[in-house]
Amino acid sequence: MTDLAGRVALVTGGTRGIGLATVGALVEAGATVVLTGRDESTAKEAAAAAGAAAGLGLDVTDAKAVSTLVRGVAKEHGKLDVVVANAGIMEDALLGMIRAESVSATLDTNVAGTLHTVQAAARAMLRKKTGAIVVLASIVGEHGSAGQTVYAASKAAVANIARSAAKELGRSGIRVNAVAPGVIETDLTAGLSDEAKAENAGRTPLGRLGTPEDVAKVIRFLVSDDAAYVTGQVLGVDGGLVL
Ligand code: NAD
Repeated sequence: MTDLAGRVALVTGGTRGIGLATVGALVEAGATVVLTGRDESTAKEAAAAAGAAAGLGLDVTDAKAVSTLVRGVAKEHGKLDVVVANAGIMEDALLGMIRAESVSATLDTNVAGTLHTVQAAARAMLRKKTGAIVVLASIVGEHGSAGQTVYAASKAAVANIARSAAKELGRSGIRVNAVAPGVIETDLTAGLSDEAKAENAGRTPLGRLGTPEDVAKVIRFLVSDDAAYVTGQVLGVDGGLVL
C-alpha cells in the first residue's frame, strides 16, 4: 500500500470525477488533502464527504487566485508536497462548428489553468526542494480525435507543460508527470451515446471503459516515493485503447 502519511496534497477540480477519486486515493494513503472546486459550498461538501482537510472555491483561470490559494495552503500546513492539476473542460465540435468562445474557455481552463497551478505549485515546493506534480493530459492529446480539435490541442499542451516543467524543476527535487486517460466514465463523458461508449469499449483491449479510480490509483503512484525516478512522463491510463 502506498504510504503518503505526513504529505500535504492539493487537488484542483476535486469535487467529482477523476479529481474526487484522486482525493479519496490520497486520503486513503494517509495524506492531508485540500481540494478545490469552482463553487465553494460544493467544494466544502465534497471535502467533508471524502475525508479531505478542506474544500476551497477556486477558478483555475484566475492566475492571482490560484497563486494566493496555493501559497495559503502551503503556509497553513507548513509545506506542500503534492499537487494534482486536474481541473479541465471538454466541449466537442466538428471543425466548422467550433465557437470562438469555446476555444478561449478550453484554452483558458485546460492550458492556462494548468500552467497557473503548476507555476504556483513549483513556487511553493521550491522552498523545500521536494515535491510531485501531476497534470491531466488525455489520450486525444497524444493522437488527435475528430470533433475534439480544441480539446486535443489543449491536452497536447498540457502534456508539454509536464515535459517542460520536469526538465526545469528536476534539479530542485520536484517531479512533474502527466497521466493521459482514455475514456473514463465521469460527468465529462456522460454526453456520449451508449453506442459511442460501446464502440470505445470495443476498441479497448481490456474490454471496458475506465473508472475514475483507475486513474486515481496511477496518480497516487506517480506522486508517491515508488515513482521517485519518474519525471517528465505522459502515462497512458486507457486500457490499451487505440484511437
Ligand atoms: P469532470 O467534468 O467530472 O470534472 C472536472 C472538474 O474540473 C470539476 O470538478 C469541475 O468543476 C472542475 N473545473 C472545470 N473548470 C474549472 C475551472 N475553471 N476552475 C476550477 N475547476 C474547474 O471531469 P473528469 O472526467 O473528472 O476530468 C478530470 C480531468 O481529466 C480533466 O482535466 C479532463 O480533461 C481529464 N480527462 C478526462 C477524461 C475522461 O474520459 N473523463 C479523459 C482524459 C482526460
